[in-house]
Amino acid sequence: MSSRLAKLRETLVANDLDAIVITQPENRRYISGFTGSSALLLISMEHALLATDFRYYEQIGKQSPDFRLIKVESNEIGPILNNMVQETQTTRVGFECQHVTVDTHKQWADAAEGFELVPSKEIVETIRATKDQNELATIRRAVALSDGAIHHIRDVIRPGMTEKEIAWEMESYMRTHGADQLAFPIIAAAGPNGAMPHAVPSDRAILAGEPIVMDLGAHVDGYNSDLTRTVCIGEPDDKYREVYDIVLKAQLAAEEAIRPGMQGKEADAVARKVITEAGYGEYFGHGLGHGVGLAVHEKPTAGKTSEDMLLPGSVVTVEPGIYIPGWGGVRIEDMVVVTDDGVEILSQATKDPIV
Ligand code: ZN
Ligand code: ZN
Repeated sequence: MSSRLAKLRETLVANDLDAIVITQPENRRYISGFTGSSALLLISMEHALLATDFRYYEQIGKQSPDFRLIKVESNEIGPILNNMVQETQTTRVGFECQHVTVDTHKQWADAAEGFELVPSKEIVETIRATKDQNELATIRRAVALSDGAIHHIRDVIRPGMTEKEIAWEMESYMRTHGADQLAFPIIAAAGPNGAMPHAVPSDRAILAGEPIVMDLGAHVDGYNSDLTRTVCIGEPDDKYREVYDIVLKAQLAAEEAIRPGMQGKEADAVARKVITEAGYGEYFGHGLGHGVGLAVHEKPTAGKTSEDMLLPGSVVTVEPGIYIPGWGGVRIEDMVVVTDDGVEILSQATKDPIV
């Protein structure tokens, strides 16, 4: 945690802040180690304060031993923050303006004595965008679980199973092999349903010969994986082979091209060019990928307009897709970690388009 605090303090200086109050749960966990749902974290150049109530006080003692722990007895968050800031003797206090409600801000501001609340964006998120070795080790465990679920579903999938049954098979595999929970609700979308990138599994029975998009992830020790494979049972139509080949070519081209220092939009453009030149540009309606870590979607993003920098240690998805209304979709998604000269592909699940 100490190197994270050091990085945060450098960022505070660069943003002309004396301190920052952190309430976004993943950010708070990243900096303090505290995994609960309610606490105020205040970091200044010299102080690191963590305040919580009876429900979590014992827990923060175990998870955040290096922080000055404050047990709060009321839910008057204005005076609580004010007291913490007085202890640090700071005057320009950043807050996470993308996460704090108008009501919370009002309570803080009404009680503030001698300090100013400064709206701040993506302070911790930017630090989280490059992973250390411990984080990568946990992410690899989450990735292995989703890879295993694809291996498992390829063994058991049969025509007549419903999308919901496919989703449950994969969920059950990940939970019984060590996932704490799902990273997000699983997508299993067969035939025309696959044309919706975020389709919800239905009672529709799958048929041989149609594309089946499966998007899943495991959550382990706070970290997530995100994986998509598209398969067809038995003999597909010509359209499937054509579309699958284009999406795979686009994905491999992007994985081949990514270098540290590249902007997200440059990586997106590599895959988009392949799909556009094949005549399917209008059917690739989302970005190439996104960062994955404590959150399933985090920085850096790799969409059409993203100027986020891909840096060594950034973990991102590479997930081009083609979605054709009335027919279905093909998406292939890997997680990769950016290295000093390219990427290491974390996802190991087979990309064989047929089962
Ligand atoms: Zn996904
Ligand atoms: Zn994704």
